Amino acid sequence: MNARSSWIEEFWRIVLLAALAVALGLIFEQVTLFLLLALLAYSLRSLFNLQRLSTWLGEPRVETIPIHFGLWGDIYSRISRVSRRQAQREKRLSTLLNEYTASTSALPDAAVALDTEGRIRWFNDAASRLLGLQAAKDVGQPLLNLLRAPEMAVFFNGSDRSTPLQTAAPGLSGHQLEIRIAPYGEGQQLLLAQDITERLQHERMRKDFVANVSHELRTPLTVISGFIENLQHDEAIQAEARLARPLEVMGQQAERMQQIIEDLLVLARLETASTASAREQVDVEDLVSLVAAECSALRYDVPSIECDLRCSKKILGDSKQLRSALTNLVVNAVNHTPAEGEVMMSWWPRGNEAILEVADNGEGIAPEHVPRLTERFYRVDAGRSRERGGTGLGLAIVKHILNRHDARLEIESRLGEGSRFRCIFPADRLHD
Ligand code: ADP
Repeated sequence: MNARSSWIEEFWRIVLLAALAVALGLIFEQVTLFLLLALLAYSLRSLFNLQRLSTWLGEPRVETIPIHFGLWGDIYSRISRVSRRQAQREKRLSTLLNEYTASTSALPDAAVALDTEGRIRWFNDAASRLLGLQAAKDVGQPLLNLLRAPEMAVFFNGSDRSTPLQTAAPGLSGHQLEIRIAPYGEGQQLLLAQDITERLQHERMRKDFVANVSHELRTPLTVISGFIENLQHDEAIQAEARLARPLEVMGQQAERMQQIIEDLLVLARLETASTASAREQVDVEDLVSLVAAECSALRYDVPSIECDLRCSKKILGDSKQLRSALTNLVVNAVNHTPAEGEVMMSWWPRGNEAILEVADNGEGIAPEHVPRLTERFYRVDAGRSRERGGTGLGLAIVKHILNRHDARLEIESRLGEGSRFRCIFPADRLHD
């Protein structure tokens, strides 16, 4: 029965009751009294039904519905339907919550949910293992009271969280963690910590391997180059014209291998330290003039090298490394620009940063290559790079040197128009 028809039924019930009261009232000549009695009876019945409804609402189950017909039956069946739906929704939610908790517990990475004040709301099993948190007593505690490493407070309260923090695992000695913080909801945060011990070990093995191989190859190559040179100057050999060309090629290739090994060793050295140890005040004007003079003497057909210095600040860093980075950029510019072109070195302030730029109007680079230029051995045209004596490691070295100076490299280039390589130094690496 729908709500409308049960209301109509109830209406007719009231009309019937009133008619009965009027009829009896007419018989006994007491119409008002019988109408009042009918009203009282109706009110008492409604009160009784309300009381039964209130008791039933304590545990609203279909089986215990006391009335199945009329308006009250309709009310009972509607309430029981709503409560059944509610119960199903709750069950679904709790199953979902259980599955979610079970899956996050199974995660190998630690996850800690924090409220707006940085207090722990919840964490998974890996957080107990890696961060040493204890379920019973640590929920509700400020996270920084429990993870007391100073770098943790700096990272947590700092504004720049784009770079994850690497730190020792408080709960697992000898292990290293990579920590990230992701904001969610309204001011809440999720801390994620990954055990990177194995990854760091592999990285160290790779670096050691490259450094050792390069080191081991250096001595035999020096010996080979020495012998080739000796042979080239040997009069008996010089008399044999057919040997001149092979010896020349052997000499060039040995020199190239030596250059690759030197570059690999430079990279290995740069990789093993995290930030530049030296903090000399490097005068950019001196640096630029030195590199310009060196590079102008590279070949006879070098394009013109100009300088534009609009910043008086010095760089706090390692002068040898900065010179090597700038030389790499200028040599590249010279190698990729025709003799009638121009290479411009500029130094200028931008906000509280300063930019050291090497720009050329040479051949330029197609956009698809630009993001990969700082990868080791990545070359746009490997054959031409080798011809020019390139190792494919120059820009990788530049990037590492800049990293060690907290600086970054921006590359802008247009094919056929030229390229701009910008080294951007932050305020705390500059000195007035
Ligand atoms: P390479 O030893 O080959 O110069 P780099 O790492 O220094 O290695 O440079 C990688 C590649 O980037 C080069 O092979 C070249 O194709 C491209 N490149 C670098 N600088 C320039 C430039 N100024 N103009 C055009 N191409 C460039």
